[in-house]
Order: sequence, then C-alpha cells, then structure tokens
Amino acid sequence: MDGRIIKEDIAKRLDNRLKSEILRKCIYRDYCISDLSKILGASIPTVTKNLTELIYDGFMTDLGKQDTSGGRRPSIYGLDGRAGFLVGIDVMREQYNMVVTDFRGKIIDTFEWCKYDLKDRLESVRGFCATIRATLEEHGYVSEEILAYGIDLTGRVNPTTGISYSYDLGDRPIKDVLEEELGAICHIDNDSRAMTFGEWMCGGLAGKVKDMIFINVGWGLGMGMILDGSIYCGKSGFSGEIGHFPFLDNNQICQCGKIGCLETGCSGSAILGEVKEALNAGRASMLSAKYKAGEELTFDDLIEAIKAEDVVAIEKTEEGGQILGRAIAGLINIFNPELVVIGGRLSAAKGYIMDPIMSGIKRYALNLITRDTKVCYSSLMDKAGPMGAAMEARSSLLGIL
Ligand SMILES: [Zn+2]
Repeated sequence: MDGRIIKEDIAKRLDNRLKSEILRKCIYRDYCISDLSKILGASIPTVTKNLTELIYDGFMTDLGKQDTSGGRRPSIYGLDGRAGFLVGIDVMREQYNMVVTDFRGKIIDTFEWCKYDLKDRLESVRGFCATIRATLEEHGYVSEEILAYGIDLTGRVNPTTGISYSYDLGDRPIKDVLEEELGAICHIDNDSRAMTFGEWMCGGLAGKVKDMIFINVGWGLGMGMILDGSIYCGKSGFSGEIGHFPFLDNNQICQCGKIGCLETGCSGSAILGEVKEALNAGRASMLSAKYKAGEELTFDDLIEAIKAEDVVAIEKTEEGGQILGRAIAGLINIFNPELVVIGGRLSAAKGYIMDPIMSGIKRYALNLITRDTKVCYSSLMDKAGPMGAAMEARSSLLGIL
C-alpha cells in the first residue's frame, strides 16, 4: 500500500465536477476512456486530461488492456486500490464488527465480534476510538494511510449533521468526536442503511439493480432503500424506520413508546418474547432449563435454538416471518422494487424465516407487481454493515454520496 492520496488535499484536488463524475462512475466498475466520454457527455481530450490528473493525484490507475475478442484493445481505468485504506465499523450491542478495505473496496482484514459496550458518553466514545486505533496499529496500519472511517450505529442517525440520537453527546455531534479521536474523515449512518449500501455495492447483485429494499431483521427491525440508483435517507436522515410502522393490533408497547409497531411482532426481541411466553405456558424447549434457572435468554440463544431445530423457537420465528411477509407485501406494492434482500442476524434462520415471508408476500402483494421482484438473502451477511460503512466512507470522502 502506497497511501497515495494526501488526506488534507482531497477537496482541493477534486476541483471540478467532471473529476467527481468520473469517480462516481468508477466506484461501480472500470471503464475505458471512450466509454467514459460517452456516458459523461465530455470529449475524449477533456476526459483524458481529467483522468490523467486523477491518476497523478492517486485516485485512479491504468488497469491495463481490456480483454476483448478482436479489434483494438483499449486500456481500462479504475480506482487505485493503493490509494489508502478505508475502515468500516458496524456497532452492535456490546460488540462491533470491523473491516479494512483498500480503495477499490477489496477486504484486506476482518475483525469480528470485538467486545466493546459503546455508551452515549464522551469518555465511552473516546475509549471506543482508542480500542479501534490500538487494533489497527497492532495489525500494522499507520494512521496516515487510513483515508476515512465509516461507522454505523443503531437507531436514528443523521449522516449530514453527524448526530446520532442513540449516542447523543449533548452539545457535540458524535461524528466530530470520532474524527478528532481517529484523525480522519468519519461518516456515520444508521445500521440498516449502511447494510443496504454494502449489499448494493458489494453483494451478489452489486451494481445490477436500481431499486432495492433491504430488510434488517435483528434484535430490532429496520430497512434501507436504494431508489433509482441512490441510497434514500429522507429529509433528516430518518428513513427506513419500518420497525415502528403502526401495523399490528396487538396492544404491545414498543421500545419507542408507541403501541402495535411492526417490530413488536417480527423482530428478534419480539420472537424471543413469544418464546418466553410459550415457556411460561409449559411448552418444552431446549431453552427451558436455562430459562427456568432464572438466566436471561439472549438473541444468540434464540439463533442457536433455531439452528438446533428447536420446535418452539422455529414456530415463533415462523409466526414472526408471516407478519413480516405481509408487511413486505405492502412495501412491494408501494415501491415496486426489483430486489428485496432479507438480511440481519435473524436471516441466519434461513428457510424458517424466509418461507413464511415468501408465503406472506405471495398472499398479500399484487401479483402484477410481485412477478418482477426477486427476494433473496443477504450475500454479505455479517459483513454487509461494515462493508457498507466502509463504502459510504469512501463516497463521503470523495463528496459523491
Ligand atoms: Zn416502535
């Protein structure tokens, strides 16, 4: 790694719109000059001049001759992987997942299930940054080569103001503190939206769809939207709160304080709640012993029980999946997406959650709309969050998010 981009200089060097447009196109794929000229509506000499400057400044590189059948083989150009590192971090309850990628988005290192209980206090955020810095230094990364950090957080996050409402530090946006402590540009976002971006940019159908919905079924329930080729944030960055869609007539109080939110019927926390109810009613389960001993059942316990084919855990997951399928049917009717991706930790339940979701979609969505919609699992799974965070950090750094 050369660490080719000079961090302080980035805004100055991306001094015209065409350079930004070239980078915007090249984050998805590589191009030859004549194709760039056509899609950007700029002359070949103009594209060549700007491309040459982008190469000189370390953003782009000549990837060699294109492999085509016959004819002249033009050189193709793409982002320069050696430009520097990007770090993506997915913060969860009491732990985080982190990836380090090169500038092209290739994963260099993965750090999974690292323990840290991030709280909404300044000293906790500083401690978190110190842990991140120490891990990276230990693995040979020097701060000058780290171009940007992407950090995704649960709850309401406004990426523009840099404020997280779950990690509210009072008078300072958390983004400012993170940048001060980590010494590089930091982009923060809501976890479901970052997962959406990760799946869209780096997943199995990367770059192939323009309209996509990502459902994050974890302890809570969230979603992200790619609409007409862009991530959709909403006016204040709060889009995608499907977990708090007033959907159910169940008289259940949600953690947001309202009653009947979708999350009270089909999130990991809701399903675990239903399992506990069944255990209280005397149903036999592999979770019975732990529960009867007075120990707290965790989300991991639920996932393990599903994987071990525990009947109560499967039954309650299927019931949650049916509710979620009906809700997704509504989303399909509204958005007419090309792709719906089911991700988040509960997607590890595979068919036990996917089958009832599919049945709900089939039953409640309009057939004419559904027939063009593909529904699949997240291909990145636990890496969707940190990869999305890293890719958002790159786009934010380049001013093209
Ligand atoms: Zn709610």
